[in-house]
Amino acid sequence: MILECHNLKKIFGRVKAAQNISLQVERGNILGIIGPNGAGKSTLLKMITGLIWPDSGHVKINGFDVHREHSLAMRKTGAIIEWPSFYPYMSARRNLEILSGARLKKDSQRFREIIAFTGLEKRLDDKAGTYSTGMKQRLGIALAMLPDSEFIILDEPTNGLDPAGLIEIREIVKEYNSRYGTTIIITSHLLNEIEQICHDIAIINNGSIIASGGIRELLHASDILTVVCERPDEACSLLEQAAKEKRFPICPPARLGDELHMELFGECAAAVNRFLIEKGFEVSRITLKHKSLEDFFMKTTSGA
Ligand code: ADP
Ligand code: MG
Repeated sequence: MILECHNLKKIFGRVKAAQNISLQVERGNILGIIGPNGAGKSTLLKMITGLIWPDSGHVKINGFDVHREHSLAMRKTGAIIEWPSFYPYMSARRNLEILSGARLKKDSQRFREIIAFTGLEKRLDDKAGTYSTGMKQRLGIALAMLPDSEFIILDEPTNGLDPAGLIEIREIVKEYNSRYGTTIIITSHLLNEIEQICHDIAIINNGSIIASGGIRELLHASDILTVVCERPDEACSLLEQAAKEKRFPICPPARLGDELHMELFGECAAAVNRFLIEKGFEVSRITLKHKSLEDFFMKTTSGA
């Protein structure tokens, strides 16, 4: 594990910005932290990078405590939290030199590579103040990547971008991860912006992580099976019984017209089908639908 957070808590006055947050990130993975505005994403990243102290709990990067062994923990970590801020009257190049300090080897192969990678080549000597939102985000990403980072933390890097800019940032992050094996944490308040690039996801709301895991598992956790068969009432109570006995990983079915709907927690659609047939029910239709992660996100964050 490159990152381990244990029971982080942070209270601002009456606002519980983080409660009981435990999180681990495996080396080489991209973790997406998703939650509505004010959910506590930036607060969590500030604790992870040692910008603020948690009220309790601890964070380790590469085995080093971020708050007690800060420079060791952050040696190969690059982070941009909230809006990247630059000196507007200086060139982007000068900004990168100043802001990355001693860690930047000017005109190194690495420097040229990152500049090309983030698409800054042509505008590198323009004043940062003349940059558009999208270019500023790229400059921020370059700054996080520059110190030969093994671990990059990007807070809402797609904020304020148009759809084209969004796709470009997504590609940069994805490509960087696969080319260098860099571990990345990226946050967003819009799930569909980043669900395609993350291996793992954590959904945060009101300072708590309410769901986390691999994207596939989270999707699988909410498959919906629809069955149409003879004698639906009878089938429904048999399936209810089967769910209770944990014969299959399903929720008790609900009857909607002539359809039975049930939520699946594993791959058991075929087993449900076989069960019904063996019990003598003619099954005329059976369909499996992946609930989108968007549905899941809406369900878990609304009204919570
Ligand atoms: P997000 O990044 O998900 O939009 P934040 O982490 O910025 O959310 O904020 C989480 C909550 O904590 C919000 O209610 C915010 O107003 C509050 N908060 C964040 N930082 C401070 C601070 N320095 N002082 C007081 N309240 C804060
Ligand atoms: Mg934020």
